Amino acid sequence: MSLTKDPERLYADEFNADGTEKNKIRGGTLYLVTTPIGNLADLSERAKKVLSGVDFVAAEDTRNSAKLLAYFGIRKPLVSYFEHNKRERGEIIANRLAAGESCALVTDAGMPGISDPGEDLVKLCAERGIPVTAVPGPCAALSALTLSGLATSRFAFEGFLSTNRGERGRRLAELAGDTRTLIFYEAPHKLKTTLSDLYAAFGDRKISLCRELTKLNEEIVRVSLSEAVELYNDHEPRGEYVLIVEGASEQPKESEFAGMSVVEQVEYYISQGMTKMEAVKACARDRGVMKNEVYKAVVGIEADKGE
Ligand code: SAM
Repeated sequence: MSLTKDPERLYADEFNADGTEKNKIRGGTLYLVTTPIGNLADLSERAKKVLSGVDFVAAEDTRNSAKLLAYFGIRKPLVSYFEHNKRERGEIIANRLAAGESCALVTDAGMPGISDPGEDLVKLCAERGIPVTAVPGPCAALSALTLSGLATSRFAFEGFLSTNRGERGRRLAELAGDTRTLIFYEAPHKLKTTLSDLYAAFGDRKISLCRELTKLNEEIVRVSLSEAVELYNDHEPRGEYVLIVEGASEQPKESEFAGMSVVEQVEYYISQGMTKMEAVKACARDRGVMKNEVYKAVVGIEADKGE
């Protein structure tokens, strides 16, 4: 599509130059249909058209999606596709697509495949040569990023942190030196713990807490991590949150540990959830020295302590 100054021609219209319909539903195709993240007016015209036109809709929670479809007066057969049935249900959906039916995949909110089922079905279709196309729309992560007031040119989407403490610690230690803006999803009842963990791992960086986006109580709180921890000491988090965290400063990694000895740095990494060997490796990488050198220093100290 070429963009011209003529507003009539800014967006592709319904018909191709040869008169064929542009948005005609194609059989044998999976449509990833993005649904609103809170504001029903965000369901696009094309999304409505596709949901009305496909043979069936695969939904993360059929009760939620049935309500959405009913609100827009769309009646369509629904099948469930979610985390715990995605293997066998994915096979059935792929077989129906291969036989020529069209399917729209929707999740509870936002873009299918972003921290919710979708990834696996698209992978399966890709493996089998089944066409997949997107009907894009709101995504909480990108809406929050653009509202955060933090750098948007380079970012990393991390989704939900693991609830396993070791895994979470390792991931945060890994991210501590990442200079890109970081995006996390979090449930309200886990927010306080996550803010404390982010503060412990990253220090006092900027954070934008983006809550209830596109809804009546939308709120963007731009503070430092220590302020965020303090803020939620006083009141309970409510609603849905995306956390946008400033990346590490561009200074060389070494300066972050400038005041620490090799052994202190290894102990710091271990306290963040790394195993001893992972901590030794990370420390050697940060300092540009051989792993053996770091290992010897750690073992030497342990021997002195009689460990
Ligand atoms: N696929 C969705 C998307 O495109 O953003 C994300 C689904 S994920 C299971 C749900 C998480 O997204 C929530 O826990 C929250 O972190 C974030 N989220 C969804 N809607 C939101 C909203 N309106 N405001 C803030 N965060 C939201």
